Amino acid sequence: MATKHTFDAIVVGGGPAGTAAALTMARSGLKTILIERGNFVGAKNFFGGVMYTHAIADLLPDFWERTPPFERPLTEQGYWMLAPDSVVRMTHKSEHYKHEPADAYTVLRAQFDPWLAEQASKAGALVVTRTAVLRVLQDSKGKVIGVRTDRPDGDVYAPIVIIAEGVNNLLTQRLGLIKNDLPPRFVALAVKEYISLPAKDIQARFGLTGANEGAAIDIFGDATMGLPGTAFLYTDKAGISIGVGMLLDEFIQHKLRPYEVLARFKNHPVIQPYLEGGKPFEYGAHLIPETGYDRMPKLAADGVMVAGDAAGMVDALHREGTNLAMTAGRMAGLTAIKAHQAGDFSATFLNQYRQDLENSFVLKDMKQYRRMTDFLDTTPHFMGTYANFLNDVALRYFTAHGIPKRDMERQIVGMLQERRSFFGVAQDMVKLLRAMRG
Ligand SMILES: Cc1cc2nc3c(=O)[nH]c(=O)nc-3n(C[C@H](O)[C@H](O)[C@H](O)COP(=O)(O)OP(=O)(O)OC[C@H]3O[C@@H](n4cnc5c(N)ncnc54)[C@H](O)[C@@H]3O)c2cc1C
Repeated sequence: MATKHTFDAIVVGGGPAGTAAALTMARSGLKTILIERGNFVGAKNFFGGVMYTHAIADLLPDFWERTPPFERPLTEQGYWMLAPDSVVRMTHKSEHYKHEPADAYTVLRAQFDPWLAEQASKAGALVVTRTAVLRVLQDSKGKVIGVRTDRPDGDVYAPIVIIAEGVNNLLTQRLGLIKNDLPPRFVALAVKEYISLPAKDIQARFGLTGANEGAAIDIFGDATMGLPGTAFLYTDKAGISIGVGMLLDEFIQHKLRPYEVLARFKNHPVIQPYLEGGKPFEYGAHLIPETGYDRMPKLAADGVMVAGDAAGMVDALHREGTNLAMTAGRMAGLTAIKAHQAGDFSATFLNQYRQDLENSFVLKDMKQYRRMTDFLDTTPHFMGTYANFLNDVALRYFTAHGIPKRDMERQIVGMLQERRSFFGVAQDMVKLLRAMRG
């Protein structure tokens, strides 16, 4: 006779959301299983990437003593506006960033995710890898009661399931918690390459004094051929993470191949010297949900909650995702603990999770930037036009032509008008302001 595997809670997915949920529940004594389809936790995971310590500290107050596998602390951050042969840089470097633990670190997920899973395991969670959840099991009334995995004899039961399956949210869709598959307008595709380089070269090129300093630069304009999207250049201990991301719709409409956009970016005259002599070590592509607050799935139903990318919890403007995922996973875990105490796994009870998220930065930020994707969609010229304009202004401003400065200022205004009417600029700025204010 087949054995019935029964737990207090099941978590699907070993990314930051799922592992945070599993750790939280296991630590409180719930019999918790974390199911991950990768060969090891983190095997399939991939990001820019910057990890924010506030979310780790909320989960594991003593995380610093547990020696997380961080790459470099961020001591310089900022934006570069790229034109075809020039750049305007706006970065921030501060002594503030030098305290330990720092606010943010670059991280390689193949190292960080297993470390976080190890903490969940130490707290008592059963971490099962190489196992895919095929579907969620429901009783006759539709309440979630467990999951079916691809293992023989692989049904697992629990009164509560937390789905943290990432952006490709097939289980969430099949449960009917979200209506549509991700349309290409609301999902970005990012390609990233990790290029290994000696630490001393990285430090010299980015102006860092040692391994205790690091830079994270987000780049707009020519990096994505002026199309809505961003590129990034992050320093790791012995390598550089470089990547580009654009809405999937843009790749389709402009018949662009992601690897071609990355290759073009790497060959840009401003970027190429940073990579000189480096050896490609890792290459990959991944989707990023840009669904926004208004198109999120239902976060709770009878016996189930959804956290992280599976629920579209990403703030692309601030390149934040892992901290939203970890916070949501932790809050879902805390709600599951309360549900066990109350013996109530109904949607009504589990909706406390949504309330907690609404009161936290996770849904407050998502609400604030709810119009951001629509802004990019309806203002596709924004990044190209203004990045090029800023570069042309800088060139005009920093070169002397033997003409009065008043005339130079008039020329600058003329340069803007050639690209966009005053009315057009005003419209863009109002739209941007609205997208930033929610
Ligand atoms: C190129 C790129 C750059 C990024 N840069 C940053 C950054 O700098 N900072 C930042 O904070 N965020 C960044 N993000 C976003 C961040 O990576 C995500 O928001 C975050 O990883 C979401 O965590 P998650 O746990 O929800 O999902 P994931 O990390 O995607 O984890 C989901 C897990 O579920 C597993 N899984 C899926 N389906 C099943 C199944 N059926 N059965 C079993 N297991 C399953 C997967 O294998 C995976 O391990 C970036 C993303 C990309 C793609």
